[in-house]
Amino acid sequence: MDNIVSESLVVSPVKRKDGTYSLRLCINQGQLTVGMLKTVMDTMAKFNLTSLRATTGQRMNLEGIPEAKLSEVVASLGTAVEKAPPGLSVCSGAGVCLYGVQESRAVGDKVLALVKENGPYPFKVKSGVSGCKLACGLSFIRDIGLVGAPKGWDVYFGGAATRNAGVGIQLGKNVSEDEALSMIGKALVYYRENGRKRERTSGTIKRLGADALLAAVK
Ligand code: SF4
Repeated sequence: MDNIVSESLVVSPVKRKDGTYSLRLCINQGQLTVGMLKTVMDTMAKFNLTSLRATTGQRMNLEGIPEAKLSEVVASLGTAVEKAPPGLSVCSGAGVCLYGVQESRAVGDKVLALVKENGPYPFKVKSGVSGCKLACGLSFIRDIGLVGAPKGWDVYFGGAATRNAGVGIQLGKNVSEDEALSMIGKALVYYRENGRKRERTSGTIKRLGADALLAAVK
């Protein structure tokens, strides 16, 4: 490890029930470099931290940090942000997976850029991008879902895995990447303008109806 250069991470603190803190490591698409791993390992060893947990959003949580040590742990890892940036689940895609028909990772970055560009929103927006209909990127149950199809993408909006759980509304079928991104952009604006505070996309669609969303993205 001596020749490995540490890399800085962006982290977001969350208070836990027992008074300790968890730090969300805001990594992109679940990818950790060797340098990032070194930073995390060195920090865990230095502060005697024993719990590093993978999240459903393909990030990591470093748990059990005493409040008195929080700022030192943050400084050891990198920089803190008050709120973690929007999350994305993405599968390995056609470049890696035998079943993939579309490349998911590059499109994932574009979806995330769209989410950032059109905000702020009434509540969090999670995205899922999958290279085929097996949907390992959780596309059916994310606010924004893209599923690889033979000639492009199937597009979903308003899926949820928690409250109002269910598959999102299909906005498009086998459309090009540009069409898919355009539909998602319009759906995000619709949600931004019509969603109530702390209402997820699934709640807005349940309250106002799928037809209103479909009309907005035409
Ligand atoms: S969704 Fe399809 S392409 Fe992506 S990892 Fe799963 S099987 Fe592979």
